[in-house]
Amino acid sequence: MGRKRKAVEITQFKDNTPKRDRGRPWRVKAGETYGRAQNYRGIFEVIWDRFGPALSKAQTVEEVVEAIKEHGRPYDQTFEPLAGLIFQVLREPTFPARPNSQKRFLADSLGAFGVVSPRRSRDICAEERAKDQRKHRIIRYEYYVECSCGYEGPSKDRACRNCGAGIPASLFG
Ligand SMILES: [Zn+2]
Repeated sequence: MGRKRKAVEITQFKDNTPKRDRGRPWRVKAGETYGRAQNYRGIFEVIWDRFGPALSKAQTVEEVVEAIKEHGRPYDQTFEPLAGLIFQVLREPTFPARPNSQKRFLADSLGAFGVVSPRRSRDICAEERAKDQRKHRIIRYEYYVECSCGYEGPSKDRACRNCGAGIPASLFG
């Protein structure tokens, strides 16, 4: 994971969002964008019931800030610097109507911190998510066993493939 260092886009930008890497050219890494979006999705799962409706009523950036302060706790510090960007996303014609879709849409839009457009951020997240889902995972595993029946080889359903003797718990350490 840590090896993947493909920067999807390299963008120079004026640092008007508060950030650690001040002064350095800001690179949008797909993995980081996606990681942040996933994190926001998790947060929205928790607070959207109150945060979502408050956001949808906001008519100005200031009102977004108010919604964040009032209903975004304890994550208000996280989202306050993104208020302008959030407002922009809320006003997109494609902003979904259903709460579940809204959370995901906003989270993915914010993933890139506004360094690239919300639209591009969503695309990056979609690509990374698809990649994630294509990754192979171990869904079942067996052991190499030596049984007193004489069988030696991979177990079957964690038992001797020949006689069915179970692997005793005492052997797991
Ligand atoms: Zn056996």
